[in-house]
Formats: sequence, structure tokens, C-alpha cells
Amino acid sequence: MDATKILLDESEIPTHWYNVVADMPNPPAPPLGPDGKPVGPEALTPIFPMALIEQEVSGERWIQIPERVREALRLWRPTPLYRAHNLERALGTPAKIFYKYEGVSPAGSHKPNTAVTQAYYNSEAGIKRLATETGAGQWGSALALAGQMFGLDVHVYMVRVSFEQKPYRRAMMETWGAEVFASPTDRTEAGRKVLGENPDTTGSLGIAISEAVEVAASNADTNYSLGSVLNHVLLHQTVIGQEAKKQLDKIGEYPDMVFAPCGGGSNFAGLAFPFFADKAAGKEVRLVAVEPTSCPTLTRGVYTYDYGDTVGLTPLMKMHTLGHDFVPPGIHAGGLRYHGDSPLVCQLYEEGLVEAIATPQLATFEAGVTFGRTEGIIPAPEANHAVRAVIDEALRCKESGESKTLLFNMCGHGHFDMSAYEKYFAGELVDYEYPEEAVKEALKRIPKLDAA
Ligand SMILES: *Cc1c(COP(=O)(O)O)cnc(C)c1O
Repeated sequence: MDATKILLDESEIPTHWYNVVADMPNPPAPPLGPDGKPVGPEALTPIFPMALIEQEVSGERWIQIPERVREALRLWRPTPLYRAHNLERALGTPAKIFYKYEGVSPAGSHKPNTAVTQAYYNSEAGIKRLATETGAGQWGSALALAGQMFGLDVHVYMVRVSFEQKPYRRAMMETWGAEVFASPTDRTEAGRKVLGENPDTTGSLGIAISEAVEVAASNADTNYSLGSVLNHVLLHQTVIGQEAKKQLDKIGEYPDMVFAPCGGGSNFAGLAFPFFADKAAGKEVRLVAVEPTSCPTLTRGVYTYDYGDTVGLTPLMKMHTLGHDFVPPGIHAGGLRYHGDSPLVCQLYEEGLVEAIATPQLATFEAGVTFGRTEGIIPAPEANHAVRAVIDEALRCKESGESKTLLFNMCGHGHFDMSAYEKYFAGELVDYEYPEEAVKEALKRIPKLDAA
């Protein structure tokens, strides 16, 4: 039988990050200030260290990974690539299914790849504390871990509904020394404003971002750290796809299709962008982002300039958006709740170079359970979106008799999400399509810009 697990040596951890900007047919649309003019790098210095700002605007194809960061990554990298023999057999598909498993990191997802990198650059810049937001808790725990590794305090603004539903994620962050607050809080002007208008709000990522950005902007020793969306975050995740290419290469394989769940776009970019480099050079490979029907940013959002947060503290970014005041339906258990998406992913999607599909919640959990029962790993609910898409494609291969090679990102395990599985088994989850009307309504509140 062909290999099940394809491993690399520590020495094979990539030495450089891959910057997709170098291979994009058009330069990325710049972030804009409230006046509609592009914001220069200096506008970001109150909240980010210069090294990360330089990466944010870089057009260099390869950016060297500092040795201290590679050393930190060695704790869990290289991550394994698996061939899903058991899933293939259960489906009876001629397709070959491979998955990159990022759940082996201490926090259980791909997020520490950028968390340790951001902590490193901030500590080098003399910063004492990082403020951030977290939704499901994956990003907050990744940054708590990284803060501990590089001697930084970490303050996490956790979306209230998750704070209440996920006490173990909170305990995990506290174990790694972080302080966690249920957002919106009364600690910030942004939080007080939202609470004043709607005291019972369940919170949202957009609100929590407003709070963390405000704290970072108003304290010299505190910077802000974001777990997805921004160019430098996507850059740091490209270690995933580079490793996967090397692993597939070792066994003489190359994917026809690459799938990843898409919230802010970082794990999709992390796996897919290194393959985009081949695509840009003429190779045929399809790159598919998978999102929930309840937060269908790429597939139903409008491509325009919008704020990254609810209150409007961030620069305007050109992206597919559901509106910066989007609050996800309370019934949604699958993560991937951000109102916007990475501008790089959005631009490539708009240009037809990457694809996107949306899947309903129940089908994703069904796929996750099938995966757990065949491959053993219980996926994070976010990862279930990619599992669903891959299973559907493998079943299409069964119909047509095609033997495609499919690769996806098993970007995290679901050990802290068992209450979502519990709800699924109890029949308490429902499918939800985000209504077209709500998108239209929200778009009325998007800033009007001549430049957009
Ligand atoms: C945060 C997270 C996501 C969504 O964020 P992206 O930036 O789109 O990767 C997906 N899966 C897991 C496991 C996560 O922790």
C-alpha cells in the first residue's frame, strides 16, 4: 500500500515565506484612509512593528524566515501530510485524498505559525504587550502561547458568545498566561459604544477587533496582533503549502485541486498560495476556498472598500464584505464568521484565479463525523467545510470514474469544539442561508468613496 503519512525532517522547514504578490497579475488594491487616499506604512506604526509593516507592503517573492522563528516552529513543524486511505475506501472513490494536518501545533491549529512570528517581531521591537481579538478561541490561544514563548503579555478580547460557550478555550489562554475579556467590554470606548446601543449583544469579531485596536493605538507599549486577513499573516502561513508540495513531491504526486476552509483566508492562502506560484507559471491546479452559507463572504458579499472592524478604526480594505456591522446568526457553530476576507484572496477570486464555494452547516458536520470515523482525527468545525467539499468532489470522481488527486488543509482539531458536535448529535443545529436582504441592508452602511 502507498504511504499513509509523509514526513519531513526539521531541516526541511522552509527557510523563506512565499509572497503571492510577486505572482499576481495586478498589484493589490491599497488600503485607504477615511479620506479615500491610500494609507502609507507610517499610519500603521502605532499598532504594528515596522518589520511586519514592511512585509505587509512587500512585493518580494521570497522573504527570509528569521532563525529564531524557525526554531519556534520546530516545536510542531514540519507537520505531517496524510493520505486518507480509509476515507477513500469508505467513499469507494478512485480519487486520491491527501490532507495536511496543522492540528499538531500546541494550540491545535495553523494559527501559531503566524502567532510566533508576530510575537518575535514585536518583542524585537521592544513591545511589552499584544492586544488581540478572538472568536472561537483558536487565535487567542495561539497568541497566548506565542506571547509566553517570547515574553510578551497578551490581552484577548473574546467574542462574548464564545467566551460563554467555550470556557476551556479561555482556560487554555489563561494557562499560557493571557488575560481574557468578554467583548464588548466597558474597558474601551468602542465597547462602551456598542453596549450602549445594544446591551444584550452576543458580540462579533468586528467589535472585538475595534476594542483591541483601540487599546493598541492608545498605549505605546502595546501593539495589535491579527490572526488572519492581512498580507503578512497570509505570508507567514505559506510554510504549510511549501511543506505540502515537498511532501507530495517525495511520492511523485501533484494535486488537481486544493481545498481549504476560508474565514479570513489565512489557512487557505497558507496551503494554496505556494501552488498558485505554479499556476502563475502555467501549471494547471484548481484552488478552492470553502465558506459557510451563513457567512458567505466570497460567494455572496460585495467586492468593495469596507472597514475591517465594526466601529471603523481600521483602514478601508478592498474585499468581499457582508458589511462591517455583520453579526453572525447565533445558531452558527462552525466558525469562519468574519464579515470580510483577505484582500489578496478576494482579488484573486475576483480575477477568477481562485474559486470559492459555500456549504451549509449540517452537511459540514456530517462530513466531519465521517472523517473522524474513518481517519480518526476529529476536525475543527472550520475544517469540516473543506472535508465536505473534498468528499463531494471524491463522490463526483466516483460517478465519473476520474481519479483526481485532492489535497486539503486539516487546519485544526476539534477537541475544544465538542459542544458544537454535541449540538449536532442532539439535532440542535440548523442550516442557515444568510439573506440577500441583510447583505443589501448592510451595504447601505458601507462608506462611500470616489476611489472605490
Ligand atoms: C481561525 C481558523 C480558521 C479560519 O481562519 P482563516 O484565516 O480563514 O484560516 C479556520 N480553521 C481553523 C482551525 C481556525 O482556527
